[in-house]
This record gives sequence, C-alpha cells and structure tokens, in this order.
Amino acid sequence: DLKLSDRVQLIKPSPTLAVTNRAAELRAEGKDIIGLGAGEPDFDTPDHIKAAAAEAIDKGFTKYTAVDGTPGLKSAIIDKLKADNGLSYEPNQILVSCGGKQSFFNMALALINPGDEVVIPAPYWVSYPDMVKIAEGEPVIIETDESTRFKITPEQLDAAITDKTRLVVLNSPSNPSGVAYTKDEFIALGDVLRKYPDVLIATDDMYEYIWWADFGFENIVTANPDLYERTIVLNGVSKAYSMTGWRIGYAAGPAKLIGAMKKIQSQSTSNPASISQVAAEAALRGGRDCVTPMVTAFKERHDYIVDALNGIPGITCIPGDGAFYAYPCVKGAMEKLGITDDVEFAEKLLSDAGVALVPGSAFGTPGYMRLSFATSMNTLRDAVARLSKALS
Ligand code: PLP
Repeated sequence: DLKLSDRVQLIKPSPTLAVTNRAAELRAEGKDIIGLGAGEPDFDTPDHIKAAAAEAIDKGFTKYTAVDGTPGLKSAIIDKLKADNGLSYEPNQILVSCGGKQSFFNMALALINPGDEVVIPAPYWVSYPDMVKIAEGEPVIIETDESTRFKITPEQLDAAITDKTRLVVLNSPSNPSGVAYTKDEFIALGDVLRKYPDVLIATDDMYEYIWWADFGFENIVTANPDLYERTIVLNGVSKAYSMTGWRIGYAAGPAKLIGAMKKIQSQSTSNPASISQVAAEAALRGGRDCVTPMVTAFKERHDYIVDALNGIPGITCIPGDGAFYAYPCVKGAMEKLGITDDVEFAEKLLSDAGVALVPGSAFGTPGYMRLSFATSMNTLRDAVARLSKALS
C-alpha cells in the first residue's frame, strides 16, 4: 500500500476545480450542463498582449529568466503599484510568480512555522486555508454573513488575534462574495492591527480592476500607510487582463520576506514562463483601456443576475462591488427541499437543473452558492430559467 505524506492528507483538491471537472464529465456523457463554477473571465486575452508574447517567441526570448522576474516586468509592476495605489517599492521588494496562487504559496512557506495562526475571514478564497495547512499553520476563520455584507468588523478581528497570530489575510473585492471594503472600513481594521505590531498582513488585490462600486479601490496599506512595513500586496494579471492561463502573479512587500519567498521559488519552479512575463509586461504597460469593456460586461451581468436570483423562491442575493461572482444565500431553497448539506444541494442543481455552482461550504460559509457570471447574458438567462424551474 503506497504511503503518502501527512501533509498531503491535510488538504483537499480545489473544490472549484472539482465542480468544473464534474460538469465536464456530465457534458462528456452527453448532458446539457451550464457551468457557472469556474473563476475565470470568458474574454480572450487582448490582442496587444498576445502580440507581445508572439514577438517574444520569434525573438527567442525562451530561456530562463531571473528567478524573481525580468527587470522589465518588475519595473512595470513597480510603476503600476505607484500609479494605481500610491505605493513605492524597490526591485528587491517584488517577486513575480506562476500566478497569484504561487505568490500566496511562497508567502505561506516563507512565513509560517508549525502552529502559527493565520486569520482568514470567511467566505474566503478556497486555497487560503489549505495553503496555510501545507505550511503547517492553523487557519483561524472569522465568520461573516449578509448582515455586514460578508465583511469582518474591527471587534471580530481583535477577538481573532492571539499570541500565535502570524498573518491576517484580506481580499477585497472578495472571491466569492464580490464585496469590497471602503477606506473607512480599512482604517477601522488598521486601528486594530496597529495594536499587534508582530502580525503581518496580506492583501490579495487580484480583483482590483474588476470594480464598479461608487467608492474607489483601497486596500489595508493604502488606507493605513503606516502599515507598509508589515503588509504584503498580492496581485496579478490573471483576472484583470483575462490571462488566467499565462500564470503570472506578483507580490510586493518587505525585502526580507520577498527574498525568502524568492529562495523558495528558486528551489521549486524557478522563474515563471519567460513568454508570459513579456505578455504581462505588455498588459501592465498597455493600460486599463482594454479592461473597460470587460468590466462593463461584468457589471451588466452582475445587475441582471443579482436581480434574477432574488426573484427565485428561497434565494436571496446581495449586490457586489466587483469581481465576477454572485454569492446568493440558498438556505430557504434548501429547507424547502429538506436538504441540509449544501454540497448535496449543489449536486441536485447539477442533476435536476443542469447548472453547476460551487457550494458555500467550500468557502467556509455553508448555505450559499457561488455563481460565476463570467459567461454570456444568454447563458445566464438560460441558467436562471433552469434554476427557477427546478426550485419552484
Ligand atoms: N486570489 C484570489 C482571490 C483568486 O480568486 C485567485 C484565483 O482564483 C487567485 C488569487 C489566484 O489567481 P492565479 O493563480 O490564477 O493568478
């Protein structure tokens, strides 16, 4: 019998990928399935970005680069963080990785000792707790619901921090809720964090550009500049520029931590793909104009789907500020069907309605479903019709 490590048995495969795979299986069996599980934009990568990559291939830019990223891409990242966020970094404070996922993974391995606690608000991106567990840390989950628009309060944050807390993770706009914190809310959280100088803060800004709130984007350090020395900013091009497959994310923060993350990356993947780095540089240097039509489409779909979901008996859904997910509460619909487990409910929606959604328990909040609206309006209308029929 093949024995595996204790480490690998602590974690589960990404549940969002599992739903996508299950939908693909059913489709292969000939079933008509609408997949609203995947977390990626449905748009093609913009042409000027693809052209830069093609040129890189033609010119033979196909070899190892510096582990932490090409000087050109790092300088584009530094300029982006200055222009958009007013944050200043030196090149040794930047690490380019194979997607935002690897950025977080490197950070967890560079920072966490066995037993260290990492505070994670729920609903959370599915990978945070598992990556913390791989690093032998303890996720400490703060629960939220619609009453605070899925945002933690300063009191909750204060209560979650202990002597063992190493890191607090913030993600705004959030996957899966789509909700973002205001500057005042970040200032209030900053007041708590100021009391605990040994605690580091990760701000995952992956959805910064997918934004339609009537207030401006902020994160914990733009709202509290004095927290700069202990904040690590995580971002990437995957969602903003519809570049999920290119695998480029980046981290900016204290040079010592970034250096440690680089050391880990140097012994795992080395540099991210040279071609993808050229593409990411073109994306960041090319500005946000190509993102605007995507955001306009996401906003239109958001408005439609939130309204439509609220019209289905047993479902309620609050509007989001950005990203491309709706996060409806389905507790009423589950109760009507006598179902207590939201995974079972998701399976029922898949078999009865042919609609694939990700159950809220995957994000630490059972009783909700994540619906990705990174798909066409027609598909969304079809999905709503099917869900209404199955649940009425
Ligand atoms: N952070 C959040 C909140 C995400 O939703 C994702 C992707 O789903 C990532 C980070 C990682 O993105 P990637 O590794 O594709 O760049």
